Amino acid sequence: MRQFQFYYEDQESLRRELMKIRQWQNTRIHSGIVFQVLSETLDQPLLEDIQAQIHEMIPDALIMGCSTNGNICEGKFSGKDIAIVCTVCEFPSTKVEVFQYELRNETAAQVTSDLLAKIGERPWVKAVEMLVTIRGMSMSLICDELQKMRDDIAIFGGGAFSNDIDENAACVFSSAGAYSQNGVVFLLIGGEDVSVETAHITGWKPLGRTFRVTRAEHNILYELDGSPAYDVYYKYLNIRNDSHFFYNSLEFPFFYEHNGIRILRAPTASNPDGSLVMTADMEQNVSANLAYGDPWTILDSIRTSSQKIRDFAPEVIRVYSCAARRTFWGDNEVSKETLPFQAIAPTSGFYTSGEFLRTNGKMNQHNVTLVVAGLREGAPAAPLQTEPLQTKDEYNGRVSMINRLATFIDAATHELEEANAKLERAAITDGMTQLYNRSEIQRRIREQLQSGGNLSLVMLDIDNFKRVNDTFGHKEGDLVIQGLSGILRKGEEKYPESAAGRWGGEEFMLMIPWKIDKVEKAAACLREQFAALAFPAAGHQTVSIGVTQAIPGEPLDDLLIRVDKALYEAKHSGKDRYVVL
Ligand code: GH3
Ligand code: MG
Ligand code: MG
Repeated sequence: MRQFQFYYEDQESLRRELMKIRQWQNTRIHSGIVFQVLSETLDQPLLEDIQAQIHEMIPDALIMGCSTNGNICEGKFSGKDIAIVCTVCEFPSTKVEVFQYELRNETAAQVTSDLLAKIGERPWVKAVEMLVTIRGMSMSLICDELQKMRDDIAIFGGGAFSNDIDENAACVFSSAGAYSQNGVVFLLIGGEDVSVETAHITGWKPLGRTFRVTRAEHNILYELDGSPAYDVYYKYLNIRNDSHFFYNSLEFPFFYEHNGIRILRAPTASNPDGSLVMTADMEQNVSANLAYGDPWTILDSIRTSSQKIRDFAPEVIRVYSCAARRTFWGDNEVSKETLPFQAIAPTSGFYTSGEFLRTNGKMNQHNVTLVVAGLREGAPAAPLQTEPLQTKDEYNGRVSMINRLATFIDAATHELEEANAKLERAAITDGMTQLYNRSEIQRRIREQLQSGGNLSLVMLDIDNFKRVNDTFGHKEGDLVIQGLSGILRKGEEKYPESAAGRWGGEEFMLMIPWKIDKVEKAAACLREQFAALAFPAAGHQTVSIGVTQAIPGEPLDDLLIRVDKALYEAKHSGKDRYVVL
């Protein structure tokens, strides 16, 4: 695989560049030739002109392209309006093919099923590269459908954009279809000698506590932990809903779990109701974390994550970097994160409105992310002799202030979460028996009663307990209480659907969501087990038990009075027994 990368200056310069390629072509064996035209302008006549000229000079070339938020040539942000990347496949076995479709929400299912059918007929396909206009589209369906293609096919690509990040207009075009502002172009690459390696790198790190996405619909994030999503930005980061909102929140986008990996979503605007417009769809009922990005941490991450691309020894590298990254770094600095790839192989690509990558079989739409695809024909070349990826020396091995502060916040959050969990446990637990305390067991009984499911209560009271205390002392009395609570805890472990609590001094309440006959057996069993225990001084003791089943819809008090009455009857009919009422 070989690449020619150049900028479009005018017709004459394009002709010269194409001549060079044609001359090279005449002296070598080659299979497919693919031109990528990456353009910051949406100028249709100009783009059509360029395509026509390429077609005229190199008729067998495939052409694909899109509008972008900036072009990456030789690993750098080019600053030029139009970059042209010509990839020549050198192995006879290599095949390339381009397809283009009109794409709107209504046609998405048709487009993907057509593409899947085409791929089904082409067992040689190893990779699919996608250029797509995203505006107004939910890409979730397309991603879900595309991941149905053969497991071994890599899928990667980017969303077309315009040079103005606030503009929605975008276009795609190709030798398989006309200039379109609602379209998708697929390049199929394959053949037995083609290999592909991909990676997605963000460099952003999770920060602080975890939130729950309690309400989200398509790309609108309504609520986190039941409160308007914007509140999080205001409360934790003091980011106001003003003209700086986009940039300020860009430094702190959200990580959320999707398809088993972390995906970034950034808010682009905040609505009056406190909901946030996100860069792409988000799911409901998943956990999310704020994330932070700072130059040092990002570059460090690129250094480590790009190792697998380096080890793969690609011949060409394609990068799809989010336009937000260009905004984040600024034009003078942004190349720092792509130049390390140029040290591995010729690197080209563009700044996108969304990055696409298949990971572990699943197809994801990313934001604020750098998607990298390395391609190669044949066996890997000898390992590169240079040092492992170096970004600028000034960053090496040093840790930024924000990284240290984030570590501090994470550690402090973790400590607080642990302390909170302990407190929460303590608030519902009886210290001496480690069973639930009375208010918690009562809460659980009420909850189960309201749910309308099966509910039976077993109330236990140790017999003649006063005498144990009086005769053998309080300590021995404590042992007897702990003896019975130990039996109840074991029952809870064995039947996690049940719950046991300490109701009072030597009184206990057990709730079980079973029918009464099974509960009766449990009561008999508890009585026996307790009677079998032998205490150091007090020897064997007994317990009386009341059992009852809830009547659907009855008030809690009625249920509690009945179980108490059953226990009273057990006591008054001689103790050491259970009574069912
Ligand atoms: P009955 O068979 O009718 O249940 O008689 P009883 O003696 O068990 O009943 P009563 O309710 O009169 O006595 C309960 C005693 O339990 C009174 C109280 O001092 C004692 N007690 C309450 N909590 C504890 C505790 O945590 N440890 C100890 N050792 N004794 C306790
Ligand atoms: Mg009692
Ligand atoms: Mg008692």
